[in-house]
Amino acid sequence: MVGAARRITALTGAGVSTASGIPDFRGPNGVWTKDPTAQRLSDIDSYLADPQVRVDAWRSRAEHPVWAAEPNPAHRAFADLAASGRLGSLLTQNIDELHQRGGLDRDQVLELHGSMLRVVCLDCGAASSMRSVLRRVAEGETDPPCPHCGGIQKSATISFGQALDADVLRAARRAALDCDLFLAAGTSLTVQPAAAFAELAVKAGARLVVCNAEPTPYDELADAVLRGPLDEVLPALAAVPPAEHAAP
Ligand code: NAD
Ligand code: ZN
Repeated sequence: MVGAARRITALTGAGVSTASGIPDFRGPNGVWTKDPTAQRLSDIDSYLADPQVRVDAWRSRAEHPVWAAEPNPAHRAFADLAASGRLGSLLTQNIDELHQRGGLDRDQVLELHGSMLRVVCLDCGAASSMRSVLRRVAEGETDPPCPHCGGIQKSATISFGQALDADVLRAARRAALDCDLFLAAGTSLTVQPAAAFAELAVKAGARLVVCNAEPTPYDELADAVLRGPLDEVLPALAAVPPAEHAAP
């Protein structure tokens, strides 16, 4: 199926980064499975209302495994699919930038939920790097205000209660409509609107392949479901030669 595909749109979730040492949210060792209260750090109303939530959020960013993480074979498999000319866009719910570091062009990756390596001021919109803000935290500021307007800053990620970026959504929708294979990998397909792109692609005539360790609500819609570890499954998929070059 992957061999016959000419234009793949992918959707990835936290499962592609677990082999890089970044836990998912809802898997057996997920951050929220182990500590459901951690969700409050990702809620925009608590973030704005409660200074302690912001202090905890910066501390949790500083301790995040992303700083030691390297792309794994699952990330590199997408770069291989792109190099063979088959991968168009990759929609990701991940905020770790490991797809870009794993070899995909920046404009090929649609970050549906933003990036935790960037920071944005919620008042004036000024952008900065997470590294620079965490340096201020290490120097003793518990909730560093925006250097331009003094406003509240937050990682450039989409929290519960925040709208997704309209341009990114538009591009993601276009990519879902414009593919012959939609490859969902490492996502529980329970967060909307991300998961709905799989259905949109199928309605537009694409085949759907789901690669995930656990069942998802979209498995029944899929033409194939692969359950193995992604750092093995995805390299094997990317190694399937394109049909026109395959042996007869
Ligand atoms: P999720 O935790 O809901 O689902 C991840 C799925 O991946 C699970 O069903 C799990 O069974 C599967 N999985 C985990 N490791 C796997 C492996 N090695 N091989 C095969 N399958 C594996 O994650 P989601 O669907 O991405 O949920 C979305 C939310 O989680 C998003 O909002 C995203 O921003 C956030 N998130 C991002 C990161 C990251 O950037 N790496 C990490 C945790 C959570
Ligand atoms: Zn500002």
